[in-house]
Amino acid sequence: MQEFGENIQQAHDEKLGRHLVASISIEPGETVLEERPLLVAPHWECHQLKCAQCLQESYVICRRCQVFPLCMDCSQHDEFECEFFASGAGKALCKDILVKNFGICGLLKLLLLLENPNTQADCQMLIDVPINLSDYRDGEGMWQEHEELVVRPLMESGLVDVLPTQQLTSDVLHAHCIRIDSNSFEVTAKDGDTLKGVFVWGATLPHHCVPNTVVALDEQFNMKLYAAVPLQPGDIIYNSYTNPLMGTSQRQHQLRLSRRLECSCSRCLDPTEMGTHMSSIKCKECGGFSVCEIDLNGKLGDWRCPDCRALLTAAEVHELQAEVGSALVDAMGDLQVYEALLTQYGPLLHPNHFMLLDIKQNIASILRAAALMNSMDQPCKKLLARRVELCSDLLPVCRAVVPGISKLYAIGLFEYLLALVELVELQFAESDLNKKEYVAHLRTASLVATEAMELLRFEPENSAEGYLADRISMELERIESDLKKYGR
Ligand SMILES: [Zn+2]
Ligand SMILES: [Zn+2]
Ligand SMILES: [Zn+2]
Ligand SMILES: [Zn+2]
Repeated sequence: MQEFGENIQQAHDEKLGRHLVASISIEPGETVLEERPLLVAPHWECHQLKCAQCLQESYVICRRCQVFPLCMDCSQHDEFECEFFASGAGKALCKDILVKNFGICGLLKLLLLLENPNTQADCQMLIDVPINLSDYRDGEGMWQEHEELVVRPLMESGLVDVLPTQQLTSDVLHAHCIRIDSNSFEVTAKDGDTLKGVFVWGATLPHHCVPNTVVALDEQFNMKLYAAVPLQPGDIIYNSYTNPLMGTSQRQHQLRLSRRLECSCSRCLDPTEMGTHMSSIKCKECGGFSVCEIDLNGKLGDWRCPDCRALLTAAEVHELQAEVGSALVDAMGDLQVYEALLTQYGPLLHPNHFMLLDIKQNIASILRAAALMNSMDQPCKKLLARRVELCSDLLPVCRAVVPGISKLYAIGLFEYLLALVELVELQFAESDLNKKEYVAHLRTASLVATEAMELLRFEPENSAEGYLADRISMELERIESDLKKYGR
């Protein structure tokens, strides 16, 4: 079982169920939980065989059990699961059970963990959380996907009969699939493929749209949870399961779909969304900004202008948002179309409105890809300057919605840094900037890089964020050497 450090402890209440709270004051960056995954599983629709041990691509089958795939680097996998098919209860089952239906791999592993006396108790924590199947049965897509890729093949494999104590029915299997899906964190294998990592204590972290911790996951699938802001004794340890750059209506919709959750956190109750106005609409009467009226449970109502009290109904706002949303889909990655959308809808929404931010992110990433591929024949200064402007627009919002140590803000700073350096280097090379101006910009770039690295310093070295920190550090070296050359 998981051991806790001295700074957190278990708690339980009606609303949150089992969860964790701080037992002492905790500084930002301080680790609150380190956990190995209970289970790492490929996605249900994965057809490429993955090594049972390290989850990289596999082309061979374990010689001992003749069921689980292995890779060239791994000669064995979990002793219990191997033994189960080599000489245990699963011996009589068809050996190609996984080769034929690799989608069942994650659930098969969970069933064997439940069977294994050493891991049973950990699994039980996950299984104890009740699932209301009727909420899911009629849901589109997911139920059907589980049924076809996992539940039916498993029921037909004969496995159910050799695990009699688990009393497996297709409903039990469906509930397990939902547990794996709704409790998993996205982890990345060494070969870059994403997988589902299930962590027993990680799964108990309740949601808050403004989390007070950061989740770090390394290439060995280890989880490290550290404080994003100062924590006081008794503070509940929260994680966020949505994208902070979504507006309240979008986040709540996503949480309803993915976790059957009605969020009424401080951000969801705040009509200004922490002062960002990410869901505010321009008031047609007075030119101010209408904000959503939200009740105490986080239920969204109509929009009202705080200055002139003019009303904008929820239906009108939804219609407008749906219109922008479908225009975004139709834009299909076309730079000019996105710019036209900004011109068209910019005057109707708050400049920080989440849909405008979405359009701006789209434009910035097209410009970045174009710069990378050198597809702009002569990197056009106007486009580079546009990218700097867009990246800089996003920064204050990224800063506001995830306070404290924030990967989102670090990534925002990195994008801004790349754009800025690329632009000023070109401007300097073409003598648009004199030495003094160039040096001033480099100083800004150096501060941006330092701040981004500071935010990433608690990330494990062997993680995507760890590699990003290396990348920023290289950029910083380059900036510093230019600063030396052109004078400080
Ligand atoms: Zn392997
Ligand atoms: Zn084996
Ligand atoms: Zn919320
Ligand atoms: Zn008004």
